[in-house]
This record gives sequence, structure tokens and C-alpha cells, in this order.
Amino acid sequence: MSFDSLGLSAELLRAVQEQGYTQPTPIQQQAIPPILQGRDVMAGAQTGTGKTAGFTLPMLQRLMETRPEGQSGRGARPPRALVLTPTRELAMQVGESVEVYGRHLPLRAAVVFGGVKINPQIEQLRRGIDVLVATPGRLLDHAAQRTVDLSRIEILVLDEADRMLDMGFIHDIRKVLALLPDNGRRQNLLFSATFADEIKQLADRLLNRPELIEV
Ligand code: AMP
Repeated sequence: MSFDSLGLSAELLRAVQEQGYTQPTPIQQQAIPPILQGRDVMAGAQTGTGKTAGFTLPMLQRLMETRPEGQSGRGARPPRALVLTPTRELAMQVGESVEVYGRHLPLRAAVVFGGVKINPQIEQLRRGIDVLVATPGRLLDHAAQRTVDLSRIEILVLDEADRMLDMGFIHDIRKVLALLPDNGRRQNLLFSATFADEIKQLADRLLNRPELIEV
């Protein structure tokens, strides 16, 4: 199977080609079409399977398709996609992937995580972004200070959800969910290496008739 048959736009295919990828990985083959259709997805995938491109590529395309009219690449605007990750390392990796795969698109991303000064992050958020990649604790700090507006989130991704729960982030995740628009108007994607009961409960609450993918 080739990337061409997945329904991705020319700009995204170009970025993929520039990365030297010739074939989509199994998780990409299975996750990209339903995400492009706007469906919720629950995917079992370890790191190293290509899962990041599996959600980033279709997420960027959806953001282009639902872009408010007249919006240029500039100007302040609240994020429309939110990716939650357990660690700063993963947040940085995902942020880099968004930059790389979105390099031919007029979309902007920011990455926020704890353990560093908050002010440069506030500056970044203020400039206006489309995709926000965040660890839960620091995201809640921004929300409490009203330096981020989560009311326009159309796509939510929980990356490595099992690790987030293992690290004790369930309460933070619940608080973040409470700040997002109605579940019915949002596309939700949950990626996890394992599916213990706690993950299944979270998935039950979060996902609407999800496409189940296991690689
Ligand atoms: P991930 O599982 O998302 O952390 O990705 C693991 C690695 O696979 C990353 O270094 C990606 O750049 C690379 N990768 C992702 N998709 C592909 C692909 N279709 N072909 C070759 N390498 C890929």
C-alpha cells in the first residue's frame, strides 16, 4: 500500500516524501482513513510503530478542511487541536512531528510542558496557534491563568494514555476534559500501548463509537 491511497492532501504527501517514507506503517494504514472521516479512534500501538504520523497527518488535514474562512497564517487564534502527552520528551517529539509534517501548511503549533519558565510559553500561545501539544499539569497552569483558551478544541489526542494514567494524571486529564467543548462536537483519538480496565473506562467516557485499531 502507498501513502497516495490514504486520502492525504498533496502538501502532506510532499512532507511525507521529504521524510523519505515510502510506505505507511500498519498503524498509519489503519488509523489515517477513519481519522480523515472524522471518526473517533482507539488505537493500540507501541512507540516505534509510526503512531505519531498516524494521528498527526490526518489531524493536520482535518484542521485545514475545517479552517475558519478568511484565516491567514498570522494573527492570534485559540488552538483547534490538543495533543496530551505524559512527558516533556514526548511532547517535544510530537511538536517536532507537527512541524515537519505540517511544513507546507499554514498551521502553527506550540508545545507546553512543566519544569521550565512559563512566560516564553505564554508568548507563544499569545501569537496564535492551531495545534497545542501539552503535558497535563502545565496545561492546567495555563488554563488557570487564562493564558490558553480551550473552548475551540475540535480534535483531542491522548497519546500514550496508559503512561499518563500510570503517572497519576487521571485527575488532571478529567480537569482538562471539563474545559473542552462538548464531547459530541469533538473528534477524540486515544493511543495506548496497553488496555487495562482504567484505560477502557476512560475510553468509554471519551470516545463516541470509536474505530478500534490494534497493530
Ligand atoms: P513513532 O512510533 O511515531 O514514534 O515513530 C517511530 C519512527 O518511525 C519515527 O522516527 C518516524 O520518523 C518513523 N516513521 C514514521 N512513519 C514512517 C514510515 N511510514 N516509514 C518510515 N519511517 C517512519
